[in-house]
Amino acid sequence: MFMLIIMTCKKICLDHKAENFGKNRYLNNQKRCQICEIFIQWEGTWCPCCGHMLRTHPRNSKSRKKFDILKSRH
Ligand SMILES: [Zn+2]
Ligand SMILES: [Zn+2]
Repeated sequence: MFMLIIMTCKKICLDHKAENFGKNRYLNNQKRCQICEIFIQWEGTWCPCCGHMLRTHPRNSKSRKKFDILKSRH
């Protein structure tokens, strides 16, 4: 049984859109959503808009690569 999770931008993120503070976005509780392609100011781990996991640290490419591999095996 498959659980289909469709992650799409519902424009809710625009309500939480983070202002541009320069280089220290991640220090200001701002997180990047890869689906919405936007920086939002949000305390949770998941995007309130699309439900995608937010990136809290800029250097996370290693674990992301692992995730992509797991994803492609479906
Ligand atoms: Zn969105
Ligand atoms: Zn999102």
